[in-house]
Amino acid sequence: MLGSMMHQQLTISSLISHAARYHAATEVVSVETTGEIARSTWGEVEGNARRVAAALEALGLEQGARCATIAWNNRRHLEIYFGVAGAGMVCHTINPRLFPEQLIYIINHAEDQVLFLDRTFLPVAAKLGAHLKTVKHVVLMGPRDEEAAAQIPGLKFYDELIADADADYVWPALEETTPSSLCYTSGTTGHPKGVLYTHRSTVLHSIGGNQPDGLAISARDSVMPVVPMFHVNAWGVPYIAAATGAKLVLPGPNLDGDSLAGLIDGEAITLALGVPTIWMGLLQALEARGSKAESLERTVIGGSACPPSMIETFREKYATTVVHAWGMTETSPLGTLNNLLQKHSDLSVAEQNKIREGQGRPPYGVELRLVDEEGNTLPNDGETHGELQIRGHWIVDSYFMMEDSALTADGWFDTGDVATIDPDGYMIIRDRSKDIIKSGGEWISTVELENIAVGHPAVANAAAIAARHEKWDERPVLVVLLAEGATVSEDELLAFYDGKIAKWQIPDKVVFTDALPIGGTGKVLKNKLREQFGEVLINS
Ligand code: ADP
Repeated sequence: MLGSMMHQQLTISSLISHAARYHAATEVVSVETTGEIARSTWGEVEGNARRVAAALEALGLEQGARCATIAWNNRRHLEIYFGVAGAGMVCHTINPRLFPEQLIYIINHAEDQVLFLDRTFLPVAAKLGAHLKTVKHVVLMGPRDEEAAAQIPGLKFYDELIADADADYVWPALEETTPSSLCYTSGTTGHPKGVLYTHRSTVLHSIGGNQPDGLAISARDSVMPVVPMFHVNAWGVPYIAAATGAKLVLPGPNLDGDSLAGLIDGEAITLALGVPTIWMGLLQALEARGSKAESLERTVIGGSACPPSMIETFREKYATTVVHAWGMTETSPLGTLNNLLQKHSDLSVAEQNKIREGQGRPPYGVELRLVDEEGNTLPNDGETHGELQIRGHWIVDSYFMMEDSALTADGWFDTGDVATIDPDGYMIIRDRSKDIIKSGGEWISTVELENIAVGHPAVANAAAIAARHEKWDERPVLVVLLAEGATVSEDELLAFYDGKIAKWQIPDKVVFTDALPIGGTGKVLKNKLREQFGEVLINS
């Protein structure tokens, strides 16, 4: 025997056990569905998570059973995350903003046996009732509530369930390849597809994604994931916070700018994470309150492209560094994060901000490549556009209950994004392949057009779409939501593009709208806009 090292399984229970052992007194703050702020600790969360596991076993559930949640970011949801996975079951987080037909499809497809619900979603669940084929237990995440009990026959109550459960429950030993959680992609086309994460992929994502050049969450941070726990496990933050013993602040149902600004100041948040639309509301609220968000050192922004003007505003007004990140449900989600290299330290702030506009570099554990339509690998020269492909420890291999591999013949996952990668590995998303505008054989990036538009002070939000065109096949049309009380004409807005991009890339038309259609994960639904405005250049 040459000697050897210990071999331990990478399990989710090891993350929460670590939090309880070394950070038991660190706070977990949670906004309840009632709006009240509840205070707990990692020690209490771990104890309750074991009770959740014990209660599920007492109900007769076995390892592998899928337990669904329709819930906000709150303390009970966190306990369910760890309790379900820790017991060897699968925590299936569901996006409550899906249509009822999609919810029914997903719950039946996942064969969920338990449905945990926040009070807010009781009416949604009551409507699904008869259509759900496999659900045996519906659990309201709160105390006993007679009014709720009258709406769903046999309704159980979380607080009662865990009060009666075995407090001495011991986490079972699991193989690290055991499935731990399940998340469906939003499925803008076709049925939603499930991505089944494992204990191993989740733990490696927590370690790899939290390197100093990644999320870099530490025991000195107060972290607020505004990104929902039903959206790719809140980007892994609950697991990472447990592994590092960070104070965790879960914002519950109130995701408006004012509520978030209140939490940032009240809980001394150092790091907050979410999609750009959330931060638009926050920046307006900070301005209105006259808050400087003193504690906020960093925001991690991803899910869709972060407008450059947002990076600048955070830096200039609030001394907050934006870490732009890219990923998807299939990638757990951390694929790239944007932090600077040593050689950038002498650059001006403006030059550094320019680098930060891109989506950043992969952490150890994932690799990226660009390919053309025939699958040939393209150069990482910062200019060549190609289909972005990824592989690594926390990338999907095959979708839930689907026979076929989700990968290319040589083992890469095709993201459906079009990107460039520079020699240092900095990746820039140019578009989603289905959104990019193909004008007379040339490509126009909708992301670039939107970034410029939202840099105009009169514009609250904007989406560029491909509109059908008789001569050029497609031409860009800009759909604009004006900032409150602001006005700007179509000509003024188009003139704003002069000198910023090539003339032929400037949109043909601006359409003003009262509201942009936003999907369940906070992104603008461009397919809806194409349905609405895709013909404006033909009919005008
Ligand atoms: P869906 O939006 O279909 O539910 P995901 O939530 O998994 O799926 O989103 C993944 C997609 O979101 C990526 O493929 C990419 O197009 C887009 N995306 C994520 N982060 C960024 C970013 N920082 N910049 C631009 N696009 C992004």
